[in-house]
Amino acid sequence: MTDMRPVDANMTETSSKVATKTLPDAQTVTSVEHFTDRLFSFRVSRPQSLRFRSGEFVMIGLMGDPDPKTGKQKPLLRAYSIASPAWDEELEFYSIKVPDGPLTSKLQHIQPGDEIILRPKPVGTLVHDALLPGKRLWFFSTGTGFAPFASLLREPDTYEKYDEVVITHTCRDVAELEYGRRLIEDLKTDELLNELMGDGFWKKIRYYPTTTREQSPKMGRITTLLQDGTVFKDLGIDGITPENDRGMVCGSLDFNKDMKDVLEGFGLHEGSNSEPSEYVVEKAFVG
Ligand SMILES: Cc1cc2nc3c(=O)[nH]c(=O)nc-3n(C[C@H](O)[C@H](O)[C@H](O)COP(=O)(O)OP(=O)(O)OC[C@H]3O[C@@H](n4cnc5c(N)ncnc54)[C@H](O)[C@@H]3O)c2cc1C
Repeated sequence: MTDMRPVDANMTETSSKVATKTLPDAQTVTSVEHFTDRLFSFRVSRPQSLRFRSGEFVMIGLMGDPDPKTGKQKPLLRAYSIASPAWDEELEFYSIKVPDGPLTSKLQHIQPGDEIILRPKPVGTLVHDALLPGKRLWFFSTGTGFAPFASLLREPDTYEKYDEVVITHTCRDVAELEYGRRLIEDLKTDELLNELMGDGFWKKIRYYPTTTREQSPKMGRITTLLQDGTVFKDLGIDGITPENDRGMVCGSLDFNKDMKDVLEGFGLHEGSNSEPSEYVVEKAFVG
């Protein structure tokens, strides 16, 4: 497993022997769950001062390997959507494992009690503030793009502001849907959430999972299924209109681009924090 002993950000070869200081902006891992050989989730302690809006992301990471010449270690940080809602006392993340990925080749080995670095500066566009009021909210995700919606699905504002919430999640294989499937299933029996958001709040959710490779009840890319009307037929919805519908999109760059075209085709316009409109987009990763 990764060596997660506490280290100082400015540690040198000579000081390393006596370094007992904790990581800069350290947070402690409280639980880890592996879903597939490519996906896992984990929870960490939350800095007391951290305020964020459900749907935002932060930079997290570990100390990188020591520089062979100087022995110095630098933080290795990556953007991560916070998958837990703004009111949660811990922070949850949902992560890919990239075999040769500088961060995730190590991060995938974290265990409870280990430390990660978390820069407490949340940002992002997948927030309620970036959308104008509407009746139905759509979350469109692929892969780990589900993460910000795991936060927003547990955010009271989502149900206060909208009559209906449709969450689509597309992955290659069925096992890759499990984190999202279970999260949504668990909302039904979560006493705290039902108390917080009103009994039966989860009845507003329409869950629409699809796979592109492994056989499953609904196969295909969501962009195709929207364009040929399958989604609307399946859900008994007339269609997407700028009057009623609001969208949030999180996936690969290609997915986001295709989804933008689809939503613009339905007459929706892209919004931002400074100029709220009818849909917003965030990339789930670069590359
Ligand atoms: C705004 C934003 C939010 C993000 N939120 C998350 C998140 O919640 N969970 C998460 O796992 N990652 C997220 N990422 C991606 C994350 O920042 C890292 O890229 C990822 O953790 C891999 O890091 P790495 O150093 O191991 O590999 P990197 O060098 O960062 O990536 C190597 C390659 O792996 C692929 N890759 C990277 N991330 C993913 C991914 N999530 N899904 C599929 N392929 C990927 C890409 O092809 C990339 O070029 C987010 C990225 C951005 C820009």
